[in-house]
Amino acid sequence: MERFARLVAAYFIMNDSWGNLSKATQAQSNLVWRSDSLPAMQNKLVVGNRRSYGDVCVNDGGTIFDATGLNKFISFDKATGVVRCEAGVTLWQLAKIAVPHGWFLPVTPGTGFVTIAGAVANDVHGKNHHVAGSFGCYVKRFELRRSNGEVLICSETEHTDFFAATIGGLGLTGFIAWVEIALKPLHHSLMAVESVSYSSYKEFLTLSAESEKTHEYCVSWIDCLSDAGQGVFFRANHAQEGGLGNNFNTSKRRVPAFVGAGFPLVNRLSVKLFNAAYIRAHSGDKQYTETIAKFFYPLDSVLNWNRIYGRKGFYQFQCVVPFESAEVLSEMLARIAASNQGSFLSVLKTMGSIKSPALLSFCRPGVTLALDFPNRGDKTKQLIATLEKITVAAGGAIYPAKDAMMSSETFEKSFPKLTEFVKFIDPEFSSSFWRRVRA
Ligand SMILES: Cc1cc2nc3c(=O)[nH]c(=O)nc-3n(C[C@H](O)[C@H](O)[C@H](O)COP(=O)(O)OP(=O)(O)OC[C@H]3O[C@@H](n4cnc5c(N)ncnc54)[C@H](O)[C@@H]3O)c2cc1C
Repeated sequence: MERFARLVAAYFIMNDSWGNLSKATQAQSNLVWRSDSLPAMQNKLVVGNRRSYGDVCVNDGGTIFDATGLNKFISFDKATGVVRCEAGVTLWQLAKIAVPHGWFLPVTPGTGFVTIAGAVANDVHGKNHHVAGSFGCYVKRFELRRSNGEVLICSETEHTDFFAATIGGLGLTGFIAWVEIALKPLHHSLMAVESVSYSSYKEFLTLSAESEKTHEYCVSWIDCLSDAGQGVFFRANHAQEGGLGNNFNTSKRRVPAFVGAGFPLVNRLSVKLFNAAYIRAHSGDKQYTETIAKFFYPLDSVLNWNRIYGRKGFYQFQCVVPFESAEVLSEMLARIAASNQGSFLSVLKTMGSIKSPALLSFCRPGVTLALDFPNRGDKTKQLIATLEKITVAAGGAIYPAKDAMMSSETFEKSFPKLTEFVKFIDPEFSSSFWRRVRA
């Protein structure tokens, strides 16, 4: 208790999530020991590396407990690939340790800078959702510390209700102190990649359906300024040769501070030039090998790339719509192109039918679109609200990890098990996201 009293820092103003949209006033304390109990207080939230774009990791008016200092490995069984580590270990750290021993993350999002507890709390997905499902499918157990002093070991056989509520539970069920996951075996660490250019959304759907039969990883980048919907489809498998070299010693660059301070680099011209150059560079079909780090985490080579949007920040919009209504994405893409507001290449991929254990998982079968919008005030909000309406009408969902805008109606419609979930919320926990969608 005393230690926490010392650790609770003064109130300060900061950018709190990857989208740099909010300037929350929240107290911050850094967690030091995984065995610590949080102090008794209302309105607290534990956060990871704040790679969520919107406000699931923000707690305006409350206190956040930063778990990134909990970055120790607890055990690693190199024979079975089961690893237990503290909440703040990042997926990048985990992969770096595991790959030389012939193990890899069963699911990883598009950045390695997320913490393992952050990956659990948003039940993140990767380029292999069609064959692997979401992160939660590989969580074996974790320790959940509740405000009433309970320390719950949760798994598929112990405290199963808290297990299902905490995976995808947006950090609201308590403090996850450590997580144990099952890694997947890996024989060679290079990736055998193929890129195929396509010229319409319809072509993307055909390519996806074909490629998912032969390739473990599929993702595509679409030019959101093009009416036609041209893009590049990437499909990959782990290479059949090359051994288990460590692929994680990549150099990192930084976006200079003056860019973030007020000189955004994203405008219609820069987006147009970049997208055209990207599509040109990938024209024709290509086959090549690349490192795990380059394939899975292309954006991680530039630290703080979110600064390119300047001090007003940016929104990310990610929806998933069921396959039966996949054509609505054509309408969304046309609206985005007409608005001239989209940013650099946007991501289109499909999700398969492997079920997550989570009560609130965003992942479900269908097509998902993710893209950034520089914050241009009401104009941007209106566009995102329109996309949200189309998503809901199509029976789809918006991803909380990326969201800063969805309404409570949309949240309720997106997550049918919400009423069941609410029973497991820690009464002292809350977040800006939660207050917004429950208003
Ligand atoms: C470049 C980029 C690419 C991305 N690509 C993908 C992608 O492909 N797929 C995908 O699914 N997501 C993707 N994301 C989103 C990202 O994976 C998630 O937002 C992830 O949850 C962030 O983890 P974090 O450690 O930064 O946690 P934060 O953003 O800090 O927090 C996320 C949630 O976890 C909770 N939390 C964190 N630590 C704890 C703890 N110890 N105990 C209890 N709750 C906790 C927080 O309260 C919050 O609700 C991407 C993000 C970026 C920036």
